[in-house]
Amino acid sequence: MSAERTADVAVVGGGIVGLACAWELRRRGLRVSLIERGRPARESTWAAAGIIAAHHYGAGPGPLFDLLRRSLAAYPDFLEQVGADAVGWCADGILAVARNAEDVAELTSRVSWLTAAAYPAELLTPWELRALEPSCTGPVETAALFPADASLDPRPLAAALEQAVRSAGVEVLTDSPATSIQVTGSRAVGVGLADGPVAAPTVVLAAGAWCAGLAPGFRLPVRPCKGQMCAVRAEGPRRAINYPEGVIVSRADGRVVLGATQEDVGFDAHIDADAIRRVHGDAAALVPGLTDAEIVETWMGFRPQSADGFPVIGPTPVQGLVVATGHFTKGIALAPVTAEFVADFVCDGRHDPLLAPLGPTRFH
Ligand SMILES: Cc1cc2nc3c(=O)[nH]c(=O)nc-3n(C[C@H](O)[C@H](O)[C@H](O)COP(=O)(O)OP(=O)(O)OC[C@H]3O[C@@H](n4cnc5c(N)ncnc54)[C@H](O)[C@@H]3O)c2cc1C
Repeated sequence: MSAERTADVAVVGGGIVGLACAWELRRRGLRVSLIERGRPARESTWAAAGIIAAHHYGAGPGPLFDLLRRSLAAYPDFLEQVGADAVGWCADGILAVARNAEDVAELTSRVSWLTAAAYPAELLTPWELRALEPSCTGPVETAALFPADASLDPRPLAAALEQAVRSAGVEVLTDSPATSIQVTGSRAVGVGLADGPVAAPTVVLAAGAWCAGLAPGFRLPVRPCKGQMCAVRAEGPRRAINYPEGVIVSRADGRVVLGATQEDVGFDAHIDADAIRRVHGDAAALVPGLTDAEIVETWMGFRPQSADGFPVIGPTPVQGLVVATGHFTKGIALAPVTAEFVADFVCDGRHDPLLAPLGPTRFH
């Protein structure tokens, strides 16, 4: 029992978002406690493919693109600062493919608006695609290269970030589920834990898909979106490849990661062999060399998805309580900018205009 625990900031949730926020807040001189229900980065962060891109299927220009672009630009410095030098950072760009008329229209339109926004993007013929990635011999109508996009392996990144957070002096409480955000009047005063609270005048709620249940007295509509993936041992493409049904990302250790489903089934953590077969089959249709590759790992994660699909970052109706969640399919990509904005707000009361449409109060 440690009733006396205090911090300047208590961060709830040790996924990539909570870890990045804790690290940035500590870097700016605050005493930080990070409260994690289990072990850090074993939920959605563990499951992620690791695409670091400023756009995605069906997206258009807008605040999310601006935020992603800023985070992508910050990534190399972020990796250096946290000492994450072995994360398979691949900055050779990302490919996307379209295999039917609807997807060709989407990809063509995406390349067009990205180009107008001065974001590097170029359409490729199937032959140009194969010249870049000879393993992509499956049928493709058209493709695109996004040279500014990158990919990495989120697992070593999260491990490096956890190490950086600990070395910087953040108190990391593992196996410590937060039972409540403690509020006095309309002010956050700490976080309730089974063995006594952590008292803190500022709380950052970064518990991913589990945030809704911890929001004290206001609506935080974030739910899980289940994603199942698998890894095969094979010779994969050098660059990550995106397609409407999923993604193919080669890892430095010789595995190729294939994903992912998007399922609205609550917190059902069951891994379904049929879903994994579909994920594998979709990827093998594009890269036939993956067809007979042995599946060496299957896993799933719960993406935190808000009611409108956009991140939820910023101050709440409870004074001193800041939320950082709802990153959905983009939490790895958005971690650096989320941490920067949360720390700007907590340390200096600064609220970047980019965040204006993304605050939690939009749901009230
Ligand atoms: C299959 C899949 C593929 C993905 N691919 C990509 C990708 O390529 N690129 C990309 O940018 N993003 C991707 N994502 C999305 C990305 O993984 C998430 O957006 C990101 O990990 C969210 O991070 P988080 O820290 O908010 O949540 P999480 O990583 O889920 O972390 C939340 C943490 O909070 C903890 N927690 C929960 N409740 C409590 C409590 N009561 N007390 C204390 N701790 C608590 C949990 O244990 C967990 O550690 C993918 C996700 C999935 C599932």
